[in-house]
Amino acid sequence: MFPLFPALTEALADPDGAGARRPALRFGDRSLTYGELAATAASLAARVGGADRVAVWATPTAETAVAVVAALLAGVPAVPLNPRSGEGELAHILSDSAPSLVLVAPGDELPPVFGPLERVAVDVRAPDRAPPAHGLADPGPEAPAFVVYTSGTTGPPKGAVVPRRAVAATLDALADAWQWTGDDVLVHGLPLFHVHGLILGVLGPLRRGGSLRHLGRFAIEGVTRELGGGATMLFGVPTMYHRIAEALPGDPALVRALAGARLLVSGSAALPVHDHERIAAATGRRVVERYGMTETLMNTSVRVDDASRAGTVGVPLPGVGLRLVEEDGTPIGALDGETVGEIQVSGPNLFTGYLNRPEATAEAFTPDGWFRTGDMAVRDPGGQVRIVGRKATDLIKSGGHKIGAGEIENALLEHPGVREAAVTGEPDDDLGERIVAWIVPADPQDPPSAQELADHVAGRLAPHKRPRVVHHLDALPRNDMGKIMKRALTHG
Ligand code: ATP
Ligand code: MG
Repeated sequence: MFPLFPALTEALADPDGAGARRPALRFGDRSLTYGELAATAASLAARVGGADRVAVWATPTAETAVAVVAALLAGVPAVPLNPRSGEGELAHILSDSAPSLVLVAPGDELPPVFGPLERVAVDVRAPDRAPPAHGLADPGPEAPAFVVYTSGTTGPPKGAVVPRRAVAATLDALADAWQWTGDDVLVHGLPLFHVHGLILGVLGPLRRGGSLRHLGRFAIEGVTRELGGGATMLFGVPTMYHRIAEALPGDPALVRALAGARLLVSGSAALPVHDHERIAAATGRRVVERYGMTETLMNTSVRVDDASRAGTVGVPLPGVGLRLVEEDGTPIGALDGETVGEIQVSGPNLFTGYLNRPEATAEAFTPDGWFRTGDMAVRDPGGQVRIVGRKATDLIKSGGHKIGAGEIENALLEHPGVREAAVTGEPDDDLGERIVAWIVPADPQDPPSAQELADHVAGRLAPHKRPRVVHHLDALPRNDMGKIMKRALTHG
């Protein structure tokens, strides 16, 4: 399993070899080969080695990638920070994680909340002399690689301590599911402060010895250019695939680029069935969904050699234990596509705990050591996992039924008058809870009526799944990963 990055180790050992000349990453007009990345990161590792923990001001730049690789080479845990976080959130993360210093790109201005914390500028120009080897350390597989803060979708972000073996295990399991090799070139348009963009998107290609091209900011033109110009795979969140689905009918170059890609992957939130199907119809490619969390890295994925179907996140990755359980903890054996239970997971991909939160950590695990994800799902007859939503916000108990918000959202999105949809429950004297739909109409001047939407859902799913209340919004509240913030909907 170790070293974490064989291609970098090789480039360090043989700076003039062919491996060192292979491309590693490109951000805008800044490209680094494996040799350059190894030399640059190793010299920074010599600078940060010995620190307890380093924060990384995680802009979508080569500096961030170099900073993170340097911390890993030095054996020092890195704490990626979202540069778009508010001061309150940054203050919370800085006092919780107590970094020894913060790594920044030259010229980056940090907000006042950083106070006197030492800044170390990351220089991405490779040094011309061989780097000092004394900064490099391998603290072993159980040592923390990162403290990554969760997305804050359901409450204040929690710092998940991610060990080095979890990074290796998840990337190798994905390589198996996706037939991911060193020949793959990834198009990357995600931020670098969460698992998806950082661990999968940056460290994934580096572990395979392949390369990545970062778009800076996601843009359709960049996807077309890179997939049309030799890149093989695209990682995105559902909001990106939604934009792609909307753009496809008028953009033949985008159609050609996607049709030629080897692999399109979506994760971080549920990919609406409607978008999956529109992309498949226009390009012949099915977006592969994978499911993971900050605390567990990746748990399931559709495998490239399986016929992917819309609405499922596939099967457990190699090495991952996955079970669905009833509220009282009884495992659900049925693969009937209907019996809803909470997903619990175990395996080498799991974190070791929440930083400074022993009680939250203890609550997150069952007595027999499985992690409670808080996500609810059913399993199809083939074993595929179909997520119906989060226990806290997406499970509606109405008229004696347990109803997942996700399938109602999918049904609403198939109505031509609906552009975006979110479904919640609210207290109801008769039903326990009633189903509430929050929609962004395709045409704000002519939104579909509540009755029409109720009939549409009742006709597709079942009468008890129809929304009883419909609200219209200009946009849904979303966080930086494009996740719908249901708390903001239900609490004003
Ligand atoms: P917080 O834990 O702070 O409330 P969060 O759970 O959104 O925020 P992350 O760890 O970034 O923080 O996200 C993990 C969650 O994202 C999962 O628990 C799941 O609800 C959701 N998720 C990830 N991938 C998928 C997917 N393919 N389909 C549906 N949901 C997904
Ligand atoms: Mg979470």
